[in-house]
Amino acid sequence: MPEYDVVIVGAGPAGLFCAANLAPAKVLILEKMKLPGRKLLLSGSGQCNLTHAGDVKALSANYGDHRAFVKPALMAFSNQAAMDFFEKHGVPVQTNENGKVFPVSLLADDVLDALLAACDEAGVEISYRESVQSISPKGGGYAVQTPVATYQTKFVVIATGGMSYPATGSTGDGYPLAEGLGHAVIPPEPSLTPVYVADHILRDLSGISLSAKVTIWHDGKKLITRDGDLLITRFGYSGPVILDSSRWMRAGDVLKIAFTPLPPNEVDALLKERTALSGGKLVYNLLSGLSCPERLLRALVFAAGIPEETTGAQLTAKMRGALVANLTDFPVSIDRPGDFGVAMCTAGGVSLTEINKKTCESKIAPGIFFAGEVMDLDGDTGGYNIQAAFSTAFVAAKKILQMLCA
Ligand SMILES: Cc1cc2nc3c(=O)[nH]c(=O)nc-3n(C[C@H](O)[C@H](O)[C@H](O)COP(=O)(O)OP(=O)(O)OC[C@H]3O[C@@H](n4cnc5c(N)ncnc54)[C@H](O)[C@@H]3O)c2cc1C
Repeated sequence: MPEYDVVIVGAGPAGLFCAANLAPAKVLILEKMKLPGRKLLLSGSGQCNLTHAGDVKALSANYGDHRAFVKPALMAFSNQAAMDFFEKHGVPVQTNENGKVFPVSLLADDVLDALLAACDEAGVEISYRESVQSISPKGGGYAVQTPVATYQTKFVVIATGGMSYPATGSTGDGYPLAEGLGHAVIPPEPSLTPVYVADHILRDLSGISLSAKVTIWHDGKKLITRDGDLLITRFGYSGPVILDSSRWMRAGDVLKIAFTPLPPNEVDALLKERTALSGGKLVYNLLSGLSCPERLLRALVFAAGIPEETTGAQLTAKMRGALVANLTDFPVSIDRPGDFGVAMCTAGGVSLTEINKKTCESKIAPGIFFAGEVMDLDGDTGGYNIQAAFSTAFVAAKKILQMLCA
């Protein structure tokens, strides 16, 4: 039986980065696809938004309810450390106006190549087309079984990713592996997904992108409000503000969209004021300067039941009320959030309560570690998920090296 210090399951950013930090240990990565990092290559539309700039202490706020878990890993391997790593490995990085960090080349391939080169330097072996099927305690360590062989190892890192974009190899295999070792798994759900809506009356405006505020209502209760860029699609809505809120959305929820930052009373006052000055203008012309594209304004006027040729002077109080509501609180009924085929991330996964947040070691199966998205850990768009993969992989590698050297 081939023997290793560490067997890592999965050659995504978490598995590769963990391996790159494990020298001089004898490390084997088992990857079920014929090539590594398939999802990494799709990230950031092929440009790879590998982390997010800014104060590392503020970064954890972008991981929903799991900020407390991820914080120690982020502090141990920060966004700046990630940037330094890639600079050192020949991949200069740049930060865009929104704080997203990309390779200067805007090529995800360069990020993957740097990770593979670092693994090579560390003497890591990678075996492709080997899907891990079980992990069981054996000889004070673990036996890792694939259809090809069984490997004996002191430590195992499960870095199998989540379930989104399954064609990349992330098909949720880590969950039964973890359950087989006694771990609980929070049911996985698509996250960072566009949303499909019922009666999509703005369908013809697909492609329009603007800054908006969205509020999710669940069973008549306000759940969460977020600001950001919104994209109207043929089937509903997307863009960062929708993707980042999608982990909270459920079929049947109501999304209320504010297409203007002005509150209802100010939009109402503005309409009245402009009508008094230029009552002969068509209603949508009275709304210029609200940072809403004209096509959207026309559609919102129409959706308020106001005939297109209506002038300000003809606008009744009832019509004005309906228009103000459409601009500041446009209600949309959620048919369903996108599925795993379109989700960029997975919410749910191996329960964090049974994982040590400082080392990512299992609290119930000593010597088993987790890294990356296989855990119940999902971040917002903006580079937070790849950063989490690196940071959790780093703390796991550090602890394993400590134990190997002890
Ligand atoms: C379209 C898209 C764009 C994205 N863009 C960004 C972005 O710009 N910035 C960002 O931060 N995040 C982005 N993400 C999310 C980010 O890519 C993931 O969070 C990240 O890849 C997770 O890394 P991971 O190593 O944990 O898992 P993965 O990248 O999913 O890698 C897991 C690996 O494990 C392998 N594997 C699975 N099961 C087995 C098994 N049984 N045996 C052996 N191997 C196995 C898989 O084949 C895969 O190679 C994007 C995601 C998508 C889908």
